Amino acid sequence: MSSKRISKLLSLFIAWNAVGWILSTYIIEIAGIRAEVDNILILRYKTTILGLALLIVAVSLYLVLKVMKQREAERNILRTRTFIRCPICGRRIPADTVMCPYCLSIIKEEIK
Ligand SMILES: [Zn+2]
Repeated sequence: MSSKRISKLLSLFIAWNAVGWILSTYIIEIAGIRAEVDNILILRYKTTILGLALLIVAVSLYLVLKVMKQREAERNILRTRTFIRCPICGRRIPADTVMCPYCLSIIKEEIK
């Protein structure tokens, strides 16, 4: 399994944990074991803070992975793109260019 896939699963796991922490006191209430907890509101406050912190960690990890993936895709596009030299100024330009972006000379006649 690649490190990217592991990181994605890790962010999903952290998010799942965050939801668990946020819902934990509600689950305690529904299960009817509230009497065993001294002050459910203080506990709910603490678990919600913890859950939100974990959620922030999970979301930032996910966003970092997404940006990394996007950058890699952009790099691959640049790698696979072929380049030619402009016959007028000699600069490196993409092969599918109609007009040189540097000296504005026309490279290929437009197809009619
Ligand atoms: Zn040029």
